[in-house]
Amino acid sequence: MIKVGITGGIGSGKSTVCEIFSKLGIPIFYADKEARDLLYSDILVIAAIEKAFGKIIFDSKNIIDRKKVAEIVFKDVDKLQQLNAIIHPAVVKKFEKWTAQKNNFSYVIKEAAILFESGANKGLDKIISVTAPMELRIQRVMQRDKVTRGMVEQRMGKQWSDDKKINLSDYLIVNDEKELLLPQVLKIHEQLINKK
Ligand code: ATP
Repeated sequence: MIKVGITGGIGSGKSTVCEIFSKLGIPIFYADKEARDLLYSDILVIAAIEKAFGKIIFDSKNIIDRKKVAEIVFKDVDKLQQLNAIIHPAVVKKFEKWTAQKNNFSYVIKEAAILFESGANKGLDKIISVTAPMELRIQRVMQRDKVTRGMVEQRMGKQWSDDKKINLSDYLIVNDEKELLLPQVLKIHEQLINKK
């Protein structure tokens, strides 16, 4: 079974592309969602975060308040590194456990916005980059998340450039709303199936 990563900047259309792969019967591991879930479900992760950040990040129901964590790591790079050092290995472990049950599939997909930035590309056999023009991405995210242009640009600023990611990828999907997505996905799907 081949392990495939899908990445791309915010608003590039990773989730939209993954939905098509999912319709083709391919299992998808949404790394960002899995990372969020760990904060509420993994006692080792919760304990490590409490040790690093203190009681202050829990709400009145003793559940981690992601907003408080985000505020801290936004201002403190050391704390961000500490958080990543807790979360990323835990997501890798979860992905390994998940893939162990997927041996009957020719390939599986891990979707992550910061695949290269977090080092999560290691351990994957092939990488697909999804790209779209910057302005289109900004408009999509502003509409989807009801946020300002400044907020989207701020999030973009933390991610690697498209060029850097494309150079390290095996396949490219252009999601500019001119080129059709389905033929691009089908072409990669055929190639991956024939590799097994
Ligand atoms: P993020 O990194 O923020 O999770 P993403 O890369 O997963 O974003 P999507 O959520 O798939 O991006 O797409 C962003 C928005 O743009 C969504 O509202 C989606 O419906 C829309 N979108 C994506 N691709 C297309 C397309 N080809 N045509 C029309 N709308 C699209």
